[in-house]
Amino acid sequence: MGAARLLAGQRRYFASGATRSAAWRRDQLHALLRLLGEREEEVTGALEQDLGKSGTEAFLSEIAVVRAEADHALRHLDRWMAPERIAVPLGLRPARAWTQARPLGTVLIIGPWNYPLQLVLAPLVGALAAGNTAVLKPSELAGSTSRLLARLVPLYLDPQAVAVVEGGVEASTDLLAQPFDHVFYTGGERVGKIVMKAAAEHLTPVTLELGGKSPAVVVGGDVRAAARRIAYGKFMNAGQTCVAPDYVLTTPDAAPVLADALADAVRHFYGSDPRASHDYGRIINEQHFDRLVGLLTDGTVASGGRYERAERYLEPTVLRDVDPGSTLMQEEIFGPLLPIVEVEDLDEAIGFIGARPHPLAAYLFSDHEEHLREFAGRVQAGGLAHNVCTIQLAVPGLPFGGVGASGTGSYHGRRSFETFSHQQPVFSKPTRLDTLRLAYPPFGPLKRKLLRRLL
Ligand code: NAD
Repeated sequence: MGAARLLAGQRRYFASGATRSAAWRRDQLHALLRLLGEREEEVTGALEQDLGKSGTEAFLSEIAVVRAEADHALRHLDRWMAPERIAVPLGLRPARAWTQARPLGTVLIIGPWNYPLQLVLAPLVGALAAGNTAVLKPSELAGSTSRLLARLVPLYLDPQAVAVVEGGVEASTDLLAQPFDHVFYTGGERVGKIVMKAAAEHLTPVTLELGGKSPAVVVGGDVRAAARRIAYGKFMNAGQTCVAPDYVLTTPDAAPVLADALADAVRHFYGSDPRASHDYGRIINEQHFDRLVGLLTDGTVASGGRYERAERYLEPTVLRDVDPGSTLMQEEIFGPLLPIVEVEDLDEAIGFIGARPHPLAAYLFSDHEEHLREFAGRVQAGGLAHNVCTIQLAVPGLPFGGVGASGTGSYHGRRSFETFSHQQPVFSKPTRLDTLRLAYPPFGPLKRKLLRRLL
């Protein structure tokens, strides 16, 4: 079906009011949970085919995240949907004022390939909870997951309200030419600009969930514990995670210890040959593989560095002696290469981060409260985390999104509901007892005096 007809059909359905009731929204969220429960094996199979993801990693980082979002929405939906009373100033009384959350209408959700299930279905939770109809466009680069979503979604969700459109640039371009009520895009900065321009034609609001170079700063505290958590966040999904630490900033004395500890953590997680580990993923395609292998020469390999193109396997790799001007340090790495850059202290680390585009996340590893205060007070980033990385996304109550170059808007939990709702203000004043009479012209001296006193 063409994009225009698809949108027209969903608009008609939305206009019928079918998606407005809390009962419909709940049904859809339950259906989504059923899909994830009953089809878990098919889902993990598709993710393994696309990215070599292990079943456990797929469960933790994709399925469980969507389930947590849906559970959270079901628990809080009544409160989110309830009108919110707003106080009316004395001079305008008697009157009532409130805001009510209205669905936006028909929304478009465009997903990337790295968490191809989570990053389409987690926004969908918000769109459904808010009572919208939605068109989903999964990434063609994760073809197995895209095909699976196209097959399963219509079996579980209301097919008049949710549709999956498969395809690449052409399909996206067709969809973006339509006047959707919101476009929710997750992916890279280059396409983010294309999406925003296309949406501007229709004055369609956008959420842009982009990426960037998220730093991890290690200054004081247990370096081995930091290394384990950094290695976990970095090498999950073979480093293809938008909030993975892109590089590490640490002091010259800690750098060699940290490099060793990172190598140890990798051995612990994936054994001495991660290629043989079922828990270590693969690079999405040859193009990204070649790009990443090209970056290996931008520094000295401290550990890892082996690769096998036929399998798109790239070993978890730690690099030192990197040039801040190299491609490795200029572009988002989005793969299992972790450069360590040396800085004198926390102050220099914060300066280093501040001199670059705002990252999606910034991580601080330190046991000192004053370091955290300093970091939280001065670092501009989509989100911050202290002594952990990436797992902050699993807290549905915490908004997730970028700032500046790392994105616009946010979601998760209540923020997802708000992203896909219009908070409509309503003001209601009875006609009896016309207190506005005082504000009607003509304005004599007495009225002026009274109005000034009242307002
Ligand atoms: P991608 O290439 O899969 O593109 C994302 C989507 O955009 C796909 O559905 C694709 O079909 C569509 N697209 C591609 N070219 C297009 C065009 N010319 N016009 C319209 N649509 C087009 O994914 P990607 O961009 O390589 O994703 C990786 C990036 O996404 C990284 O920068 C990463 O940091 C970021 N990311 C951000 C988040 C987040 O939540 N903030 C999550 C994951 C990934």
